[in-house]
Amino acid sequence: MADTEPPYQGDQGMVPRQPSHAAADLLSTLKKALFILGSTTIIFAALRNSLTYHLQHFWGASGNFWQHQWDKILHSFGDDSYVLMTYGTTIVSYIVYWSVGSVYTLMDLFNKPAFIKRYKIQPGTNEPVELQKLIKCILWVNFNQTVISIPFSMLCYYLMCLRGFDQSPQLPTFHWVLFELIVCILFEEIGFYYSHRLFHHRLLYKHFHKLHHEWQSPIAITAIYAHPLEHMFSNMAPVFLGPLVMGSHVATIWLWVSLALLSTLNAHSGYHLPFFPSPEAHDFHHLKFNQCYGVLGVLDLLHGTDDKFRASKCFSRHLMMLSLVPPREAFPDDKPEGKVIKGKQC
Ligand SMILES: [Zn+2]
Ligand SMILES: [Zn+2]
Repeated sequence: MADTEPPYQGDQGMVPRQPSHAAADLLSTLKKALFILGSTTIIFAALRNSLTYHLQHFWGASGNFWQHQWDKILHSFGDDSYVLMTYGTTIVSYIVYWSVGSVYTLMDLFNKPAFIKRYKIQPGTNEPVELQKLIKCILWVNFNQTVISIPFSMLCYYLMCLRGFDQSPQLPTFHWVLFELIVCILFEEIGFYYSHRLFHHRLLYKHFHKLHHEWQSPIAITAIYAHPLEHMFSNMAPVFLGPLVMGSHVATIWLWVSLALLSTLNAHSGYHLPFFPSPEAHDFHHLKFNQCYGVLGVLDLLHGTDDKFRASKCFSRHLMMLSLVPPREAFPDDKPEGKVIKGKQC
C-alpha cells in the first residue's frame, strides 16, 4: 500500500434521496440502459464494417470476411457443434479472460504505470496486490474455467439440442446477431440480479458468496473468483439464458460470452478508465455488500437496492468518461466531517 496516500475511505457526501426523485431516477436509469444498448450496437456496427473493409482491402479476402474466418475454424476443428459449443466456448472464454485479465493483473502487481493510479476507484487498495491472495484467486478461477465450465458447456449443448438451435455452417446475418445480443443482455440482467440477490441471503451467503466478497476492493480477475455452485448458477447460467431462448448460432454465443466477460472484467477491475463503461456500481457492491446487485442497474432501481449508491458521490462518477480527467478528480469527495472507518462509510 502506498505510504503517501491513505486507503480509500469512501466519499462522505451522503444526502438522503427525495421520494419525488424516484420517477426522474427511473427515467435516467432507463436512458442509461438504452444508451449502453444503443452505443454497443453502433460501436459494434462501425467496428464490424470498417474492420471488414480494411482487412479485405489489405489481405484481399474475398466475400464476407467473418464468414471466411468461420469457414477456417470449421476447416481446422471440424463442423461439429458439440466440439465447438463445449471445448470451443471454453477456449474462447479462457483466451479472452486471461489476455485482458493479465494486463490488469500486471498493473496491480507492479503498481505501474504510475498515472493509472489516478483512475483507481478505491485508491490505496491493491497497490500492489497481495501475492498470496492473487495466487489463490488465479487457482480458483482456473478451477472454475475448466472443471466447472467444461461440464456446464456440455449440459448447455444438450439443452440447446432439446430446444433446437442454428447449426448451419453459414453465419447468421449481422442484424440478427445484434438483435440476439440485446436479448442476451436483458436476460443476463434478470438472471444475474435475482440469482445474485439469492446468494446474498443469510443462509446461502456464508457458504457460497462470501468467497467472492473476500475482495472488498476487487481486481479484474476476481470476476469469476467464486464458489463453483455460484459460478454455475449466478455467472454462467444468466449468460446462457439468452442463447438458449433464441437458439443462437455457436459463433453468436462465442461473441456474446466474450462481451459478457469483458464487461465483468471491467466491472471488477477497480479502475474507472476513460471511454470504458462505468465500473462504479459493481465496485460499490463490493465495498458495501448490499447495494447494486445487477449489471445494468434497472432492476436495482425498481427494487430500491441502489438507494445508498444514488446518495453517494460514487453515483456522480457513474458515467462513461469522455475525457482523460479521472472521475475522482472531476467529481472529488466531499471533506470528511468526522472519523471514518475504512469501507464503513460512503
Ligand atoms: Zn463481483
Ligand atoms: Zn455480491
